[in-house]
Amino acid sequence: MFDLSTRDIQFLSGVGPQRAVLLNKELQIYSLHDLLYYFPYKYIDRSHIYHIAEIDGNMPYIQLKGKIQRFETLGEGKQRRLIAYLADGTGTIELIWFQGIKYVINKYKLSQEYIVFGKPSIYNNKVNIAHPDIDNVSDVVLSSMGMQPYYNTTEKMKRNFLNSHAIEKMMSIVIKQLQEPLLETLSAKIIADYHLMSLTEALRNIHFPKNPDLLRRAQYRLKFEELFYIQLTILRYSKDRQQKYKGYVFTTIGNIFHTFYSQHLPFQLTNAQKRVLKEIRKDTGSGRQMNRLLQGDVGSGKTLVALMCMLIALDNGYQACMIAPTEILAHQHYETVKSLLEGMNIRVELLTGSIRGKKRKAILSALSAKEIHLLIGTHAVIEDTVNFPALGLVVIDEQHRFGVAQRARLWNKSIQPPHVLVMTATPIPRTLAMTIYGDLDVSVIDELPPGRKPVNTIHQFDSRKESLYRFIRQQITEGRQIYIVYPLIRESEKIDLKNLEEGFVRICEEFPDVNVCKVHGKMKTSDKDEQMRLFVSGEARIMVATTVIEVGVNVPNASVMVVENAERFGLSQLHQLRGRVGRGAEQSYCVLVTNYKLAEETRKRLEIMVRTNDGFEIAEADLKLRGPGDLEGTQQSGIPFDLKIANLARDSQLLQQVRGIAQAIVDADPMNTNPENEILWERLKALRKTNVNWSSIS
Ligand code: ADP
Ligand code: MG
Repeated sequence: MFDLSTRDIQFLSGVGPQRAVLLNKELQIYSLHDLLYYFPYKYIDRSHIYHIAEIDGNMPYIQLKGKIQRFETLGEGKQRRLIAYLADGTGTIELIWFQGIKYVINKYKLSQEYIVFGKPSIYNNKVNIAHPDIDNVSDVVLSSMGMQPYYNTTEKMKRNFLNSHAIEKMMSIVIKQLQEPLLETLSAKIIADYHLMSLTEALRNIHFPKNPDLLRRAQYRLKFEELFYIQLTILRYSKDRQQKYKGYVFTTIGNIFHTFYSQHLPFQLTNAQKRVLKEIRKDTGSGRQMNRLLQGDVGSGKTLVALMCMLIALDNGYQACMIAPTEILAHQHYETVKSLLEGMNIRVELLTGSIRGKKRKAILSALSAKEIHLLIGTHAVIEDTVNFPALGLVVIDEQHRFGVAQRARLWNKSIQPPHVLVMTATPIPRTLAMTIYGDLDVSVIDELPPGRKPVNTIHQFDSRKESLYRFIRQQITEGRQIYIVYPLIRESEKIDLKNLEEGFVRICEEFPDVNVCKVHGKMKTSDKDEQMRLFVSGEARIMVATTVIEVGVNVPNASVMVVENAERFGLSQLHQLRGRVGRGAEQSYCVLVTNYKLAEETRKRLEIMVRTNDGFEIAEADLKLRGPGDLEGTQQSGIPFDLKIANLARDSQLLQQVRGIAQAIVDADPMNTNPENEILWERLKALRKTNVNWSSIS
């Protein structure tokens, strides 16, 4: 069989050393295999040429063949446009350009035959095609060709005549050489069961499809495969782990839990909280190690659920710990948990980087002696130095960056891995959750505690500062507190930002009678904590801050979140920030301040924020706007997100289907012994070598 990955691209006819370097550097194409997996970004249907007489305004992209009779320019300034009259013997149609007029007139000659491609539309009762693609007839091999592929190339490549047509020519040589079938990458059973094209056919048709239907089938096969192996990797890994480790069994719900539930719980649990507790109970009682993601919008009461789970661990004789991403949050959790457990005989301690010396030593030794039941801290600290003799449950708060590898580090703390509960308020679209957190079970708190009023979100332009300040003053008079958030300070960037420092001065001038505090990431921890304390205690009424306050901070009396330069924030960040208010009984507000000129995408982001408070809707929108590669968490997840052909935003159905297929295979073949699946396990091995080293993790 053919192994294309060992064939250097340099030796393909028409390439040679110079072009090979360009292909290496610009597109990371080194071998024939790499070239074959460089897929077109669009196709033009060359299979049919229409007559001008048949055209109406309702057609998709079509192709014509004809000669330009004459050019005409009309209008002035922005109205200026070029019209070329194209005739083919059956009629005449207008081709229109609004830009590049001079270029077009110079490039195309009268009375020469061209192939014109574009989408007809109707203007002033006449059919025309705006900004068509035009090719010389000799460049286009008609009829035999079906759909013509177009490949992205870089400016540098184009300057060296390595344009889409050049790639196409190289590709056609490789494809013609593919006489033998390529080594198949899916099992015969999968190919048969799901009516997939063979790999060889799929690659042939992804580049040179004879018709749109064959193209669709080729795309389907390749997307299927791409998503399938991601899921198979994750699920295989998760199965291996299950087989290797048992989970601690929390058999009882005992005194500690019951005492808390009946005497300390200050409110009724929501139904969603109850449901999630049940799900966790089931996991921790099953003998399997729990790896569960708890998603719930900001303020939905995840901390309480986590605490109750930790109490179950204690009831069964284990220790538990909760890990927060920042010191501020760890501190806040510590205070919350301590006050909730007041009067119960449970020892809770806080451990962060700033707790040193004797105090630290005392905590560490009390932990090893099992005298401390609950430890709350920041994750670096807990990962590195702590020895838990009986760690039964780890709760990781507000971390959507906590991938498989980090979780695995925690397991090394005891012979048997503890149960792990990861909590996040950043809703993750289902498809991403299945990939980043593919080995986790997911619980969702989809209900806010009663009495919460949805935050009212307003978009306001810079120029209306006076009314904003009036509003802030009014809220302060009513006893509320205000956050004003600026984008991160980056001194190196010369962007014209009213940065936090200027903002702080301005706010102090504007509100001379109000106590204003300030928090940013470059401050010393002790200063930061002091400023936070001022705000939490209510001594300071306004907090000017960067996004350090983004996650978790809980000040129910704060009712206004002002986000300056809101155009600089991503959707999930804006949603997180908004979640800092609306935690008390009062109506809260989020004011997104931007300047007047906004990019289209920014405008869409702000519209979504104003329209909805639903974190999941926002996450889906974010995925569509930005694509999965840019979303937080994907980089750290250890999963390759530079998908070649599948798209997590568009192919979610297929993703769910292949996940089911992969799951069934892993369940039916737990030890990788079924010969029917040999191809799959071999392929998995090869992929593991190039991607993440999953096996070393477990
Ligand atoms: P999250 O971590 O999910 O953003 P928290 O756990 O910080 O949310 O809870 C937000 C606030 O809601 C806290 O003040 C908490 O005490 C309160 N809370 C949690 N559960 C309930 C409930 N069932 N009823 C009323 N208030 C609740
Ligand atoms: Mg929280």
